[in-house]
Amino acid sequence: MRKVLVLEDEDSIRSFVVLNLQRAGYQTVEASTGEDALELMKQNPDIRLALLDVMLPGIDGFEVCRRIRASGKKVGIIMLTARSQEMDKVTGLMTGADDYVTKPFSPAELTARVDALYRRIGDAPESAPPVRSGEISSPPFLLNTRNRTLEKNGQRIKLTQVEYTVMKLLMENPGKALSREEILEAVWGRDYYGEVKIVDVNIRRLRLKVEDDPTTPTYITTVWGYGYKWEA
Ligand code: CA
Repeated sequence: MRKVLVLEDEDSIRSFVVLNLQRAGYQTVEASTGEDALELMKQNPDIRLALLDVMLPGIDGFEVCRRIRASGKKVGIIMLTARSQEMDKVTGLMTGADDYVTKPFSPAELTARVDALYRRIGDAPESAPPVRSGEISSPPFLLNTRNRTLEKNGQRIKLTQVEYTVMKLLMENPGKALSREEILEAVWGRDYYGEVKIVDVNIRRLRLKVEDDPTTPTYITTVWGYGYKWEA
């Protein structure tokens, strides 16, 4: 059963989300505060995806997101943001969220985003034995596609599942200019409803992690007016 955590303090919105996820075949775990959500994440290690509201009475959704990421668990995170808070999108993505849905959203949009993220992170439990092994080497980087990990000079770099997928796409296409739309489609899927800006946000975040000097990128370079390129 695919289990999703729903953190939302407004009962009516939470019920709406839960009902629609259940109709789409998901099992749900509900929380109305960030503190409860973190506790429930501990009690339910099989939760693979979390929907986090931003504005909450105690710790906010960004903080919950940060703490889930800090725990190192492989969980897909979608932030539920308010239309009036445009900056939430960027802040949420910078704290490690994989996607965001702006309120008010339709049931179709919500389940499409959840389905898409579930496909990206994969249905397999964290401990499942890998089907294939493989490595992509591009010194000083080594991408292990078996463990979905990245190393730079032998040092592990922590990536979210989405960042890993972007990185893999780049490293599989050394020296090739990839358009932003191409990256969007390959990583987020053809049915992604969001904006292409999400590509730039993730690239910016990846650069902070992989570049020697993120202000003058030498590994992930910009192809002006087009997209990005992995410099082998
Ligand atoms: Ca709220």
